[in-house]
Amino acid sequence: SVVVVGSVNLDAVTVCERFPQPGETVTGVSVAFGQGGKGANQARSASRSGAATVFVGAVGDDGAAGTVLDSLAGAGVDVSLVTRTAGSTGFANVTVDGSGENHIVVVPGANAEVRVSDTARSAIADADVLLLQLEIPLAAVVDAARAARAAGTVVLLNPSPVQSLPDELVDLLDGVIVNRDEEKDLADVVRRVPHVVTTLGGDGARATGPDGTVDTPGFPVDVVDTTGAGDAFAGALAAHWGLPPAERLRRANAAGALTATAAGAAAAPTADEVDAFLAA
Ligand code: ADP
Repeated sequence: SVVVVGSVNLDAVTVCERFPQPGETVTGVSVAFGQGGKGANQARSASRSGAATVFVGAVGDDGAAGTVLDSLAGAGVDVSLVTRTAGSTGFANVTVDGSGENHIVVVPGANAEVRVSDTARSAIADADVLLLQLEIPLAAVVDAARAARAAGTVVLLNPSPVQSLPDELVDLLDGVIVNRDEEKDLADVVRRVPHVVTTLGGDGARATGPDGTVDTPGFPVDVVDTTGAGDAFAGALAAHWGLPPAERLRRANAAGALTATAAGAAAAPTADEVDAFLAA
């Protein structure tokens, strides 16, 4: 089983022909609301990949809270350890223009209040894998990693948005999941972590661990929207951590590729969809 301690947002994506100037109002073409946030996206992917998955995070006391929790629960994620705080649920306001450029405003809201409770600690201790990102306070990330290490739960970190990491956290990591930019920015950290999994966009992914390096080439797919592909990859990798390195990498790569074929950040495929894709 997998525990994700991380962020959840309500994403609102509006499409307009051109961005408004300051002080100007333009009429948009469409709007879509959906669950986002790296933590929640990765939990959704782990669950749809077939792992029993618990999401530990925080939502506000607004209408957005129910929307994102219903969506996560609908993907089979256990949301019973999500706390409710006064104020707003995390929110990402995305505006896309006719050329596909975007403007994004992210309000952390309740994500800034995530703490690791005693019940969350026991869930982490009971899990096989703890999966972390950096959209919640670093103190909570470190607390969760400590609880995992103490219980022998594998600790995986997707260090996004990238920031410098305290030595204590680095020493608690079993693996990192990084894209090319994160791998460069964290070159010192990457050297010290036993498992390094690098996503290479359309070129697939590479994993280096104690038993050597495995590569999986990119799957040729019709790309619609790569938003969330990295999150789908990370969740699938955590769900399949018990498989041999080449096999879990291939399944994560397929989950990432399939996510790039659909719109939205939360489009991670199920294990059956990945099976069908790999058999085709
Ligand atoms: P991020 O979006 O986090 O920067 P990447 O761009 O490396 O991460 O993409 C993550 C994963 O998603 C890749 O390893 C791959 O599995 C899949 N993916 C992303 N873009 C494509 C693409 N154009 N074609 C096929 N797979 C893709």
